[in-house]
Amino acid sequence: MSKAMIIGCGGVASVAIHKLCQNSGVFSEIMIASRTKSKCDAIKAKLDADNRNADNRNADNRNAENHNADNRNAENHNAETRNAETRSAAEQGKSGKTIIHTAQVDADNSDDVAGLINEFNPGVVMNLALPYQDLSVMDACLKTGVHYLDTANYEPPDDAKFEYKLQWAYRERFREAGITAILGCGFDPGVTGVFSAYAQKHHFDEIHYIDILDANAGDHGYPFATNFNPEINIREVTAVGSYWENGTWVHTKPLEIKRTYNFPQIGVKDMYLLHHEELESLALNIKGIKRIRFFMTFGQSYLTHLKCLENVGMTSIVPIDYNGTQIVPLRFLKAVLPDPSTLGPRTTGKTNIGCIFEGVKDGKKKKYYLYNVCDHQESYKEVGSQAVSYTTGVPAMIGAMLILNGEWRKPGVFNVEEMDPDPFMEALSKWGLPWTEDFDPQTVE
Ligand code: NDP
Repeated sequence: MSKAMIIGCGGVASVAIHKLCQNSGVFSEIMIASRTKSKCDAIKAKLDADNRNADNRNADNRNAENHNADNRNAENHNAETRNAETRSAAEQGKSGKTIIHTAQVDADNSDDVAGLINEFNPGVVMNLALPYQDLSVMDACLKTGVHYLDTANYEPPDDAKFEYKLQWAYRERFREAGITAILGCGFDPGVTGVFSAYAQKHHFDEIHYIDILDANAGDHGYPFATNFNPEINIREVTAVGSYWENGTWVHTKPLEIKRTYNFPQIGVKDMYLLHHEELESLALNIKGIKRIRFFMTFGQSYLTHLKCLENVGMTSIVPIDYNGTQIVPLRFLKAVLPDPSTLGPRTTGKTNIGCIFEGVKDGKKKKYYLYNVCDHQESYKEVGSQAVSYTTGVPAMIGAMLILNGEWRKPGVFNVEEMDPDPFMEALSKWGLPWTEDFDPQTVE
């Protein structure tokens, strides 16, 4: 029975909050703290109402059981009632009994975050706001001695370049404070690192090549929208591409390298090479690695709109003067694009994200593909969000659970592949992201 504090209340946080509440045996009490408190209150109201409805359903069941029991002898009556009560308690546990608190917080201000941590006293802080807040929230965790987890690598708002060195610089301080920081615990980064650690532990003596493939065949019906925070998404996609080969970074022009892949349950898609944060940590943590690449699928409509927006300067992060006010064009663009957390009801189709490994086992060459397929509408039915938020929020909940139950708790700052993958892999299947293995996959040229 533990407490967790969630920073941010957007698409990813919303899924994580639903999953924390489903797992009320671990997360008995949570604090949702974000910039706009009304969003936190709205999700609390929805989840509290879900709980009340579940209680009413349980009470109805109990009444029905008791009525039947009246018609039997006294001994049977007692037994039936006891059974009904036991069943009712189990159902309540399943529906979730997490106590939810909400608060306003400015996560750019570490004192503000530390003050709230001291008031609520959580076992772990989950930073599900934006990458810009990673360092201030890590500072707050150091001030208060509380474990930390995030889903995206820190990047400064005025420089669209993420690298782990600023977060890795906290290693010694976290070690000395005896607290754990888990970096990048979404799907990619996150599950892709766990998949890599699992492949290394169970299937290879040495992994030489990893291709991470992220396909989204979802259709939201808009000509242009992003599936997670538009500002972060467009910064990532318009950046210079890169991959790791033979101990060095190879840089490419944005979206310069294109491949086609036939994804299980999705079909043939064009995908493009991007720089992605897990390449940096996997290059250090996977034994014998020679090359790691990351590919993401994009539809033609998305690319055409993106090119047009870029050409007219709307994706720039350099502030401009507009009628005496400084505005960042990309932030203005974010304000006019659909909010990713509203895409759930209208998105159909599936995502497929996974890793293809090539290497050596017992002196023989080996190929291995591990992937998850997630259905947008199934995700929406369960937690009210599309699959991109779902595939990020579920691993965040699992990482926080493993910190709290001690399986992923050790002092210092870690990427997910530095932890034991087995309990995480087991939890993925249990909490909604089952994985598939293919021992003879098509590889990427
Ligand atoms: P959203 O934009 O939907 O949500 C961000 C939330 O953070 C909003 O509620 C926002 O508040 C809040 N916030 C922003 N700044 C502050 C601040 N200074 N103080 C307090 N709260 C703040 O983003 P997503 O949910 O789509 O993404 C969340 C994170 O997950 C991002 O870092 C993203 O990069 C990462 N991500 C990781 C993936 C992975 O697989 N690893 C995949 C997808 C996303 P407000 O409501 O007021 O705007």
